[in-house]
Amino acid sequence: KTNETTILITGGSGFIGSNFIPHFMNKHPNYKIINLDNLTYAGNPLHLTEVSNLSNYHFIHGDIADEQLVTDIFERYDIHGVIHFAAESHVDRSINDAKQFIHTNVKGTMVLLQIAKNNWEQKHELHNRRFHHISTDEVYGSLGKTGKFTEATPYNPRNPYSASKAGSNMLAKSFGYTYGMNVIVTSSSNNYGPKQHQEKLIPTIIRKALNGEAIPIYGDGSNIRDWIYVLDHCKALDLVYHHGQSLEKYNIGGSNEQSNIAIAQQICSILDELVPELKTEHGISRYEELITFTKDRLGHDQRYAVDDQKLRTELGWQPVEEFHTGLQKTVEWYVNQWSRTKTH
Ligand code: NAD
Repeated sequence: KTNETTILITGGSGFIGSNFIPHFMNKHPNYKIINLDNLTYAGNPLHLTEVSNLSNYHFIHGDIADEQLVTDIFERYDIHGVIHFAAESHVDRSINDAKQFIHTNVKGTMVLLQIAKNNWEQKHELHNRRFHHISTDEVYGSLGKTGKFTEATPYNPRNPYSASKAGSNMLAKSFGYTYGMNVIVTSSSNNYGPKQHQEKLIPTIIRKALNGEAIPIYGDGSNIRDWIYVLDHCKALDLVYHHGQSLEKYNIGGSNEQSNIAIAQQICSILDELVPELKTEHGISRYEELITFTKDRLGHDQRYAVDDQKLRTELGWQPVEEFHTGLQKTVEWYVNQWSRTKTH
């Protein structure tokens, strides 16, 4: 089919990408989706089994920073748009070693931008075809007790992960200003939901609790993040990709600020009801007893909160998932997932 819309999604096998692709393909069944992912420790092809047999889904195993591969993809397929998720995403890993963060987040983004730009320029489509870069509110730095990040807040990243993401955001915007490329950047707050890698905060709390191990919480647990249910983020991305203004930034938030300790406590009480039998096995009466405060993360940002009025007023978006129901579904998903893998 010559008028088929083909979209290149990078990092589609990670947490957000693997929630996004089934949602997006379901909403736009006529699109052809190419998922380019090099399956790092964070990528899991099993999270895409719902779409992997569809004839309009294609998986390409490879690195976004591989110029030859990305050039071949753009030559082989007529790519109408890019939705760029691929990244190294774990702050703690970036504190241990930033190298891979620069490779994927900065160089990889540059390679995609450069090759997309060249290809679309040749086709006289540079202004029409969209490059949607997915980013994080962490690029804005850290807040005190009050205030929120708006799209106009200057970037002030404070750890290697957020620095590499800020770099990639700026590169993306620069391709818009310099060449007139149709670039859009979204920055969302912390996502939670099924399919997240077990190293992240919420899966770690659940896993440790189920194993009867100490649940590690940095510092005094007072650090605050805004949390958005992953599907609400995916719906916002679909909307922005199709209707957002070129060269604009959009913040995507959950209007749901939670301290780390409050998250741990809420998960523990969900588990108290959901898997009471393990408490006796672990010799505790409530999972909360396992919470342990550990040495704080280096340079730990105190608070993030985003103002997403622009997205709400311009595009009519709002998050629909309540935190308590979203968290309940999330905990149930991991409990199910892990009890299944244990019995196999
Ligand atoms: P993730 O770590 O779960 O997934 C990243 C995916 O990218 C994995 O499938 C991995 O295999 C792939 N990848 C990594 N390096 C690659 C490379 N060089 N080439 C090809 N593929 C590569 O991350 P996530 O949580 O799904 O985040 C996706 C995007 O959203 C990232 O850009 C992240 O910065 C951003 N983001 C995440 C959150 C969050 O709370 N998780 C919040 C805001 C923004």
